[in-house]
Amino acid sequence: MTDRVALDAAALDAADPLAPLRDEFELPDGIYLVGNSLGALPRAARDNITTEFDRWSTLGVEGHFTGDLAWEAYHELLTAPLASLVGGREHEVVAMNSLTVNLHLLMVSFYRPTPTRHKVLIEGHAFPSDHFAVESQIQQRGLDPATSLVVLDPRPGEVTLRPDDILATIAEHGDSLALILLPGVQYYTGQVLPMAEITRAGHEVGATVGFDLAHAVGNVELDLHHWGVDFAAWCTYKYLNGGPGGVGAAFVHERHVDDQSLPKLLGWWGTAKATRFQMGTTFEAIPTVESWQLSNAPVLAMAALRASLALFDAAGGMPALRRKSLLQMEFFDRRLAETLGDRVKNLTPTNPEERGCQSALRIVAGEGRAVYERLMERRVLCDWREPDVIRVAPVPLYNSFEDIERFVGILDEVTR
Ligand SMILES: *Cc1c(COP(=O)(O)O)cnc(C)c1O
Repeated sequence: MTDRVALDAAALDAADPLAPLRDEFELPDGIYLVGNSLGALPRAARDNITTEFDRWSTLGVEGHFTGDLAWEAYHELLTAPLASLVGGREHEVVAMNSLTVNLHLLMVSFYRPTPTRHKVLIEGHAFPSDHFAVESQIQQRGLDPATSLVVLDPRPGEVTLRPDDILATIAEHGDSLALILLPGVQYYTGQVLPMAEITRAGHEVGATVGFDLAHAVGNVELDLHHWGVDFAAWCTYKYLNGGPGGVGAAFVHERHVDDQSLPKLLGWWGTAKATRFQMGTTFEAIPTVESWQLSNAPVLAMAALRASLALFDAAGGMPALRRKSLLQMEFFDRRLAETLGDRVKNLTPTNPEERGCQSALRIVAGEGRAVYERLMERRVLCDWREPDVIRVAPVPLYNSFEDIERFVGILDEVTR
């Protein structure tokens, strides 16, 4: 039995055209299933960063303006690959700052409450940073979260949001709704929210619609431009493997990128490139999302990210990765059910449309936190989220079917 099953994973790996990409990463010892939290290190990131050290060492300040890797324009090297991952056009996407900073900058522009239309819709289980950011934006406008914050929760006894309930809540608040800020993929349950439908429903009631794509980018296919999403922000250290504290990114739909009537916090990196270094004090907005930039780019973080984005490209982009991911999740579900039965409950929807590569497992047999600790002792790298969930994410760029098979085997042993 064990042989047949082992062969099963091995056969799937042998048939996987993306399997060689694993060798492009330096993976910690053990089974790395926590790319949803911190993506693995692409080998080429070392070279890219060394290149920048060398340029810094030899060129000094001239590195800003010299060659194809000139630091002044370094962020532009990331634009096309990031745009392709989110379904944006190049003038709609920029790498800058960090995720929470970008959420704030975008809310300055896109949360414009009036006395009658002032509410922000978020989810009750929002990532704390998103919750704090929204709450403080509401307070900055002299409003009270008690009346301006609308929180969407699953039905009693359920853990995921029903898409129809999301749309009904949007309709219910109707013309009091100024902004909808929801995740593309919920960080705790791994549920993919219906972003196109939410955008349509939001626009129907006259609200602005933004998404936090921290757990969606590099995980599921996105089509922000065609969906008509107003804005989005994401980090690059999760599925995009940009490294700890890596640079964030933002999307602003083209109908807004050159709208000079939007309120905006300004910095010198948002002003016209041709005149920036004349050091004048008249702001001439770059007519793209780049006008939201504040500071010159964090080049070392971007150098690491470039290495990873090249691997997404080598894989054939999100369609190819998603194809593999769906096979992996089917295998994951099957092996989990065959081996553990009802000793674990997967809180993540099993409908492929509603899930990416992360599963949220609630341990029914025994105490979840203790099971998590035993997994970590066995070098299964996964993560624990209060109150009772173990998150595991087989990432199609570098995880094998064999990783899944071994994980299920170890989970079986530590829950007996
Ligand atoms: C990871 C994550 C964050 C982290 O924000 P930083 O500003 O990058 O520290 C915020 N929101 C969500 C939804 C996340 O998943």
